[in-house]
Amino acid sequence: MSRRAIVTTLLGTILLAGCSDGNDKAEVEEVNLYSARHYDSDLPLYDRFTEETGIKINRIEGNADQLIARMKSEGENSPADLFITADAGALWRAQEAGLFQPVESKILTTRIPENLREPDGNWYGFMRRARIVTYDSAKVKPEEINDYAKLAEPRFRGKICVRSSDSVYNLSLVGALIEAWGQEQAGKWVRGIVANMARPPEGGDRDQIRAVGAGVCEVALTNSYYYIRLANGDDEADRKLTERVKLGFPSLDGKGAHINISGGGVAANAPNKENAIRLLEFFTSAEVQTHIAAENNEFPASPDVAAPAPVDAYADFTANPMNVSRFAVRQPEAQSLMSEAGWR
Ligand code: FE
Repeated sequence: MSRRAIVTTLLGTILLAGCSDGNDKAEVEEVNLYSARHYDSDLPLYDRFTEETGIKINRIEGNADQLIARMKSEGENSPADLFITADAGALWRAQEAGLFQPVESKILTTRIPENLREPDGNWYGFMRRARIVTYDSAKVKPEEINDYAKLAEPRFRGKICVRSSDSVYNLSLVGALIEAWGQEQAGKWVRGIVANMARPPEGGDRDQIRAVGAGVCEVALTNSYYYIRLANGDDEADRKLTERVKLGFPSLDGKGAHINISGGGVAANAPNKENAIRLLEFFTSAEVQTHIAAENNEFPASPDVAAPAPVDAYADFTANPMNVSRFAVRQPEAQSLMSEAGWR
């Protein structure tokens, strides 16, 4: 056998060994995504990521609390690589349970403003959603709802619609008020809102907006994207009601509207950590932010990603610069204030 032939044979053996090895241990690059985002509009993004990187996404869906419980019970052996959800409070609960590891990524810190990520890199936002109001423009003047504090005043006795206190969106908003004002003043506000309710909390945000349209209440607390969807959706009655029912952006201490995020963090024991970071970076890309803004009507998190239609028409507002982790940690306090006040 010539020397060259020997080398070739050896190489072949090594390659074959590599192949047979790959049969037990997956050679396909993959990433296990635990997702509490349940939007069909996200699906093409997952295909796109695989196309771009060759990394296959295994998706496990559930609501945030289910997925957090699952990761807890799986413990160190959890296959979870990346957990994404649509509320800073849920991300904080996962962090508190030790389910994340801090991640350093120049891409993430460059794209995502400091106030929209956890200071130690445990989780990062990639979309923004404002918790604001819709109001009946025939009955309410814009200056009457330009401050969260005003919503709790006697002017709105029996005029406000809002969903229940187990909504993480409400918990995060009240958490932000506690962070800004302290327990006592935030507690007063919560009691004021309970006194101002037009009816006991029922339904989701869309139901509150429609209740304003039906004259049940004059003002409703809602996330921005629900209104934008009704205003631009296929349902003619919904579109019609948004001609009179308007979106208003109350300010917190004159610093802007309360901002929550869709975001994610890399799992503490991620078996595919590098792929998890790549997927999280992918979520913060201009392409993904633009896609989710257009399809799901959230706002881009990066200031240099322009809001596409239809959210562009609503994007020109002042966003409160409070770090999302500041109100997220206050969800338990918010919960007790709200239960004490009888906000069911
Ligand atoms: Fe939502």
